[in-house]
Amino acid sequence: MKKLALHWQIILGMVLGVLFALLMVQFDWGPKIVSDWVKPFGTIFINSLKLIAVPLILASLIKGVSDLKDISKLSKMGGRTIGMYLLTTVIAVSIGLAVVNIIKPGNSVGEATRNELIENYKGDADSKIQAAEKQREAGPLQALEDLVPSNIFNAASDNGNMLQVIFFAVFFGIGLILLPEAKADPAKKFFDSFNEVILKLIDLIMLGAPYGVFALLAALVAESPSLDLFKALAWYALTVVLGLSLMLLVYMLIVYFVTGKSPKFLFQGLAPAQLLAFSTSSSAATLPVTMERVEEHLGVDEEVSSFVLPIGATINMDGTSLYQAVAAVFIAQTFGMDLSFGTQLGIIATATLASIGSAAVPGAGMVMLVIVLAQAGIPEAGLALIFAVDRPLDMCRTVVNVTGDASVSMVVGKSVGKLREPHAKEWDDNYKK
Ligand code: ASP
Repeated sequence: MKKLALHWQIILGMVLGVLFALLMVQFDWGPKIVSDWVKPFGTIFINSLKLIAVPLILASLIKGVSDLKDISKLSKMGGRTIGMYLLTTVIAVSIGLAVVNIIKPGNSVGEATRNELIENYKGDADSKIQAAEKQREAGPLQALEDLVPSNIFNAASDNGNMLQVIFFAVFFGIGLILLPEAKADPAKKFFDSFNEVILKLIDLIMLGAPYGVFALLAALVAESPSLDLFKALAWYALTVVLGLSLMLLVYMLIVYFVTGKSPKFLFQGLAPAQLLAFSTSSSAATLPVTMERVEEHLGVDEEVSSFVLPIGATINMDGTSLYQAVAAVFIAQTFGMDLSFGTQLGIIATATLASIGSAAVPGAGMVMLVIVLAQAGIPEAGLALIFAVDRPLDMCRTVVNVTGDASVSMVVGKSVGKLREPHAKEWDDNYKK
């Protein structure tokens, strides 16, 4: 029998996970069984992906940068990457502001529902507000200061310090470029082979992906709050999803016009990474798979993808910035506030910066939303309003975050002549071995 393509296997895992949880919640003891006996397998799956993120960035980025042979190429690629990331983020926030101003989802929430939501989720919202407090105290150059680690082992020991690991890897790669070949070669070969091992590990982990997503989605459904509150926020959720879909359309157009590749090519190549982004809500955990798919199925050379993707996973979050714009205006609408054009322009700037500052982990976008709200003078307590539907929306915005990084890597690859036909002609032949 022909083996199902990986993305179908993952979709099957997701659907079965949801059905299984829906069945289990019919029994009093069901949710506990799911959280005791099923959820841990989801956590193990996410941990195994996170486990290889730092070694992967180190090995592939050192190899990628040292392969460039010439530093001017690096600055060219760096400039284009940052430029594209900023451009797509600003487009995303603008789409968010446009849809929320047209649909006005805030007007559909009555005062009673508003008070009920704030009452129910006050505690959860407060913990996000406290987390944001730390970010707010930072000075203007804090981000730059944080870029340079004082100790590489410390930096690599925490998945939250990806940018520091990236800094070290690029710096190390530059050192290799500057050395005579005979001296640099042994180190290059080592990282080359190290990189191959990590790629093999990704293949192995992906064998477990259908089971991992089964466990993740089953746990999520079994633990989700009541449907009534979901309904009250349906217009808001739809507005975010509509905005995110439009953003996917923007990527398709950009990729099509710049590289000539069809939307089918983009989505078929990237599907497993998108499905994992959806199931894990974390672009950092998805990064190893995104890198593998982009290199082997979208045809971007490793020199480009190893540079563009880890940076993108940390700073380019178009889905997050779009959601922050919609959420901020939605909260203002429910409080009956009319935001001026100037305030909305301010949201473009703060949501762009806030999405850059958001960590690539579940729920991070909501912490940074506190800062967007504060800048625009919208009550922070409003965060409680959107809590009930945040997780499903987080899943959707993470798909957009990952798709954005992959699209930009194709565009940058094309612009420096590093986009080729993909290695893996047959989808998923890698996993059939
Ligand atoms: N979960 C998102 C990501 O990892 C970040 C967020 O919007 O919360 O990309």
